Amino acid sequence: MKVEILPALTDNYMYLLIDQDTREAAIVDPVQPQKVLDAVKKHGVKLTTVLTTHHHWDHAGGNEKLVKMEPGLHVYGGDSRVGALTQRVSHLTALKVGSLSVKCLSTPCHTSGHICYYVTKPNSSEPPAVFTGDTLFVGGCGQFFEGTAEQMHTNLTQILGTLPEDTKVFCGHECTVRNLKFALKVEPENEVVKEKLLWAKGGACAEVHGQDRACGGAEGAALPEGQLQEAQGETQPPGRAGLRLGALRALPGEEVTEWHPRGARAPSWLCPARIHPQLGPGFCL
Ligand SMILES: [Zn+2]
Repeated sequence: MKVEILPALTDNYMYLLIDQDTREAAIVDPVQPQKVLDAVKKHGVKLTTVLTTHHHWDHAGGNEKLVKMEPGLHVYGGDSRVGALTQRVSHLTALKVGSLSVKCLSTPCHTSGHICYYVTKPNSSEPPAVFTGDTLFVGGCGQFFEGTAEQMHTNLTQILGTLPEDTKVFCGHECTVRNLKFALKVEPENEVVKEKLLWAKGGACAEVHGQDRACGGAEGAALPEGQLQEAQGETQPPGRAGLRLGALRALPGEEVTEWHPRGARAPSWLCPARIHPQLGPGFCL
């Protein structure tokens, strides 16, 4: 499989998922339809499918326009509020994009109908991919608009945290530097955070989303190799610098020590250990 990262709006990401065997493609959260169709044309693929993570306008807001421009698309989502929906999916609904298998993972909290899409290529050694929308970011998680901290904890540890460790994570927004800065505020001595922030601020994904952005797509895929190595101090192989799901499981449980200043987007690799089920929506520690 191939994933083309398409930056959109201020800090959103759309992703064109291509099955190289059949040249069939799906688009994740096509908020800017023309940009999607330009990418489809560039790659010479057949777009058949829209995978919508949730109903918010900056993710689903382009669905109607896209189906007008490209009739016949299958539009999937886990919420009746998703525009142009042709099939509502739920937890473990299975779909196909060419020869790729897509498993829908229900991750309610940011919105009650939020779906993450887990993609594998059967009979292949290719690493899987997961499209996490506004559930999981690089170093953070989405705001708790329609759910509880307990739900987010389950999403991060039980649903996403149990996927294979080599799963590539493609998230819905670029907010890596901000998340890591917060992480450093909470744990000023944490060497992993320091190293990751250096990588992010080193311009890892500046080419993806402008100079103030860094490292979206969670795998540094758009980065020239030399630049990435430089930013990382050559501590990680090029293109493999992003979030790995193993990190979600690696943290010991700890006492809650500080509230998230904005009630959102706390570092996800801290969150699973630190979200306190009693705190209610909007607080992630
Ligand atoms: Zn959202």
